[in-house]
Amino acid sequence: MTHTPRDGSQSRTLLDDLFPGARLIVAANRSPFRRTLGVHGEVRWERPAGGVTAALDPLLRQTGGLWVAAEPGAPQELRVPPEDPSYDVAVLGVPADVYRGYYTGYSNSGLWPLCHNLVERAHFRSSDWVAYRQVNRLFAARIAKEARAQDLIWVHDYQLALVPGYLRQFGVSGPIAFFWHIPWPPTVVLRLVPERKVLLQGLLEADWIGFQTEESVDAFVSAARRELGVRSQRFAHGITLLYQGHQTHVASVPISIDVQKVEQLARTEYAERLLVDLRRRWQLGAESILLLGVDRLDYTKGIPERLDGFSRLLSRYPSLRGKAHFLQIAVPTRTEIADYRRLALSVRRRVAAINRRFGEPGWLPVRLIEHNVRLERLVVLYRLADVAVVSSLYDGLNLVAKEYVAARVDGSGSLCLSETAGAYHELRSAFPLSPLSPERVAEGMARAIFASPEERRERMQSLRGAVSRNTVETWLSRVLTGVRRATDDQLSGANETPV
Ligand code: UDP
Repeated sequence: MTHTPRDGSQSRTLLDDLFPGARLIVAANRSPFRRTLGVHGEVRWERPAGGVTAALDPLLRQTGGLWVAAEPGAPQELRVPPEDPSYDVAVLGVPADVYRGYYTGYSNSGLWPLCHNLVERAHFRSSDWVAYRQVNRLFAARIAKEARAQDLIWVHDYQLALVPGYLRQFGVSGPIAFFWHIPWPPTVVLRLVPERKVLLQGLLEADWIGFQTEESVDAFVSAARRELGVRSQRFAHGITLLYQGHQTHVASVPISIDVQKVEQLARTEYAERLLVDLRRRWQLGAESILLLGVDRLDYTKGIPERLDGFSRLLSRYPSLRGKAHFLQIAVPTRTEIADYRRLALSVRRRVAAINRRFGEPGWLPVRLIEHNVRLERLVVLYRLADVAVVSSLYDGLNLVAKEYVAARVDGSGSLCLSETAGAYHELRSAFPLSPLSPERVAEGMARAIFASPEERRERMQSLRGAVSRNTVETWLSRVLTGVRRATDDQLSGANETPV
């Protein structure tokens, strides 16, 4: 893959060029680091998994700045990363019941399923809405206390939709960017949210809002027009929305990964040694085919359908028995919600059933790993896997798909990718997969397995090109340029030339 040469301060320079003297203040629900004490009082650091933290932590390491997050319990002030401190984290301590209403309730039992169009799973309770507002206000109050006029505030995701509005109420007049990481639902679905107008009003106080796909941009603009009567105008870099004298630029800017870091990790001596070791331990011979799924254990990821698909594959192609192995990493998440606990049970049940039905001495068809695997090890699994299966029912983007491609430094490997994952728009050379029915999932996997070596190589080459064209640095640069343009327009009151 080709890269522009990078030194560690590239992102800082970009920030300085566009926002001279600015401190970057990020607001995102989850802290990238957690400090706890071990049984002997020793300090321990945890790094929670998840796409948002995986993308933003490398950036903050380069730009410095402040990350504001929330957790139930006591507040924490941290300098991170522990091995080479370069930015600050302020974790807001939220009373446990309020955090539950905000996070488990409104955010993850309401907005999350709804935005993924899984309407029957969504619940909107008034008490959760009260907690959601309260925590959003806490974020805004903390940021308002820190921010100087020249600082850039960048708010992330569906847990914090009201933060831009509260920031303005607290007198913040500087630039505010917002990135919505998950899909934005069609207006007819959004209408099931009782508080949709307030959410839209809060968001529209930002100067710039980014989404993962054009589809989400279109859906958001349509909602703003239909629900609030916002005026919109298309221009070369996105869409301008005008609401109550405030202008917001909206654009599709898909997030990405630190491609160079993934490639480097995939090439280490440690990676080479672990590859050999795992092949031996899991009895993967020259004839073996390893399929891999890497997900948080979330119902949007389509894991049960994927396992059923693998079962179909083994029934339909007896030649794969004894040869095909499925490794599923399923990191527990949101276990306080009953839907997630039920999902964990159903996944375990399916794995056991497949292994009982097909397993033979020396061949375990499915291996399930139910804990977080660090990126250093994950890249080795990516290298080991002949086929990565990303079969999300809906997904804002899906970073795992991009990481798999970046880790295939020798140009081999195949990616099966759901057509309903945001990443599919950029990764069209993947083997497409229709995620809802096990037959279709099995078909998608079979296509990848039985494709000619030339087809697999060509597809991977094209995927690697796509991933290297949009790295996390490109993403940051597009975001910062977009916010700069939006704030300049705001100040000059200019309307872009329509195209
Ligand atoms: N991840 C990880 N360890 C794991 C599983 C996942 O570090 O065991 C990381 C993975 O490398 C990726 C992120 O978690 O960067 C998942 O992001 P994605 O966009 O695929 O899904 P999300 O969890 O944000 O819905």
